[in-house]
Amino acid sequence: MRLSYSNYRNYLNCPSFYRKIVTKVPPTEKASRYFALYGLMMESFFKTYSNSYRTSQKEFSEGQIERMLSSKWERILAENYVCWSDPWVKESQNQIFSQAQNDVAEILTKFDFWRRSRSEVSFAINLKKSGDAISCRMDFICDNDDGTHDILDGKGTRKMDQNVDMEQLYFYALIYLLKHKRLPRKIGFLFYRYHLIKYIDFNMETIIKFKDKLALVKRAIKADTEFKPKVKLSKQCKWCVYRFACDAWLNQKQANAEKKAVKNRIEALENATGVVTFGPRGAL
Ligand code: SF4
Repeated sequence: MRLSYSNYRNYLNCPSFYRKIVTKVPPTEKASRYFALYGLMMESFFKTYSNSYRTSQKEFSEGQIERMLSSKWERILAENYVCWSDPWVKESQNQIFSQAQNDVAEILTKFDFWRRSRSEVSFAINLKKSGDAISCRMDFICDNDDGTHDILDGKGTRKMDQNVDMEQLYFYALIYLLKHKRLPRKIGFLFYRYHLIKYIDFNMETIIKFKDKLALVKRAIKADTEFKPKVKLSKQCKWCVYRFACDAWLNQKQANAEKKAVKNRIEALENATGVVTFGPRGAL
């Protein structure tokens, strides 16, 4: 088995979704990538920018940066389907592009980690005992003068304090540990929109505990014969590309609709028969 961090997370969120992804079941709908555009842009820019700087030790001029951003944006738009008429679309193509331009300029001015980083670096570690492999792609791995490294994961989120998944960084630290036989010096998130790096606390004990959890999840995946769907009518199912072929989701949706219809009928009946509802401060 080869387990990436996203598949580890997918299995915990919904085994059925995990199974479909790893067996490459075709999606039942064309998913709009609106929410991914900004992150793809930042990842792609810093991959080229950091890796080129590392090889040539030359910084790009403002004009080169502009041209690089424009050509990347064109490619991202060409490669990713977006339904611009979706009700949750709040920003135009130009607004997303301008935001990315602005954030790139701020980050390049504020930090210098990109001068000593490799970006979008892939790792795969073969685990001798189990015969499995774990893999990841780190957004930034930064060299320090003392030979240690810091690991950064770039985040395009607007909700900095809500969308922090520390296990993702633990996963990277574990892979680093297995490869280098020591921990990275620091691990953290680079919040692109906030021009801010937040490092998290960790130590050997944290990473070993996470390693044990990962081993349990790997065992659970191997023993799983059903890959049951875990319905959540929140984000997870809302954006799931298999939802229209998922009986569990369709049944749950129908049950919710029926519940709502009953509630509406009761309210209509109360209104028709003149039942008076009292609020906290008296009759309404
Ligand atoms: S719709 Fe929800 S429950 Fe069904 S496969 Fe997708 S994530 Fe899992």
